[in-house]
Amino acid sequence: MARLAQTAGLTDIQQEILSTVRDFVDKEIIPVATELEHRDEYPQQIVDGLKELGLFGLMIPEEYGGLGESLLTYALCVEEIARGWMSVSGIINTHFIVAYMLKQHGTQEQKDHFLPRMAAGDIRGAFSMSEPGLGSDVSAITSKAVKDGDEYVLNGQKMWLTNGGTSSLVAVLVRSDEGHPEGTAPHKSMTTFLVEKEPGFGEVRPGLTIPGKIDKMGYKGVDTTELIMDGLRIPANRVLGGETGRGFYQMMDGVEVGRVNVAARGCGVAQRAFELGVRYAQQRHTFGKPIAQHQAIQFKLAEMATKVEAAHAMMVNAARKKDSGERNDLEAGMAKYLASEYCKEVVEDSFRIHGGYGFSKEYEIERLYREAPMLLIGEGTAEIQKMIIGRRLLEEYRFQG
Ligand SMILES: Cc1cc2nc3c(=O)[nH]c(=O)nc-3n(C[C@H](O)[C@H](O)[C@H](O)COP(=O)(O)OP(=O)(O)OC[C@H]3O[C@@H](n4cnc5c(N)ncnc54)[C@H](O)[C@@H]3O)c2cc1C
Repeated sequence: MARLAQTAGLTDIQQEILSTVRDFVDKEIIPVATELEHRDEYPQQIVDGLKELGLFGLMIPEEYGGLGESLLTYALCVEEIARGWMSVSGIINTHFIVAYMLKQHGTQEQKDHFLPRMAAGDIRGAFSMSEPGLGSDVSAITSKAVKDGDEYVLNGQKMWLTNGGTSSLVAVLVRSDEGHPEGTAPHKSMTTFLVEKEPGFGEVRPGLTIPGKIDKMGYKGVDTTELIMDGLRIPANRVLGGETGRGFYQMMDGVEVGRVNVAARGCGVAQRAFELGVRYAQQRHTFGKPIAQHQAIQFKLAEMATKVEAAHAMMVNAARKKDSGERNDLEAGMAKYLASEYCKEVVEDSFRIHGGYGFSKEYEIERLYREAPMLLIGEGTAEIQKMIIGRRLLEEYRFQG
């Protein structure tokens, strides 16, 4: 796309990284994405290519073998990748969140142990908060850790782990009562455990089972799984940050950067939907002219492009705010909310421009149509974003009368 979604003020290095990623997306992802998606096939070759490009270590500090890049660089890469295939950005996303949580909250030993191999893409991360009975209401988590000597024994069932099968490190949020007596606020009695496991399905470590892939309407290729802990023993030095009771805050910090990332995915998918729509509108003729020459279709294209621009600007703003060291929960919430809603609308409009062909599996828009709804849910639904935005606004604009 020549004109839309440009970002002013990028350094030479950022531009170079983005142009390499864009090239990779155009050559290695777009040509195979729809076929792999229809077969629900894991894109191993693409993942190997991303590893070679160093993308798994993009934001991991250089001292641990990463590229030490900013959240903005990361988000712009994610936008490019999602333009090619959203599932591929999902493969990197949970890895990035776990690496970020380790960087921010891990003990020195945990950073030294995990980050270099995560930067190389040899250890891949997933994170697990949701359970069968809860997603939005994280404070209702029922999975539990009980201390037993130098270890904790974990029991409970988790749901919706993106990369649950392919990862080898899962950051799992559970309730831990030790040191936090009955009656402690739920968010102060949660702990994140760094659970190492073999990739794959079945019993991947004694006491830990990944039953299999959940069959989804879209977001295919990337595996999403349950996780069952039945007497899973984790050493005390695998409590993230070495201290129990801090898990809720650590996860929320991770999810906050994850929201910028989901916004970036929404931007990428919307851009691709626009590209497909504007191309098709100039190829398809009705009533003696290309449909792009009918004002109703031109108006659709105008609305789509405006949404692509607006979402991109908000996403960039949220990333830059975090990079400057400021709190960005308001901006990240707004960007995630707007980009995911706009993405769904732009995809819908592009689908309509395609007429009956949009319904055919031969056309890429069919895949995008099934992928966009995931962005409305992941990293917090629209309602949850609005709760965060609303609360922050009331803090900022407190009535002083
Ligand atoms: C493909 C996929 C991948 C995922 N990957 C992961 C992952 O890697 N790790 C992970 O931990 N989770 C993951 N999730 C789970 C995801 O985060 C949750 O699905 C999401 O947070 C919503 O939770 P829920 O599905 O339980 O819906 P619920 O919380 O039950 O919500 C149902 C509806 O009620 C609304 N609602 C809930 N509370 C309120 C309220 N207070 N006010 C108004 N409306 C409300 C919601 O917005 C929604 O519309 C994934 C989900 C999917 C579909």
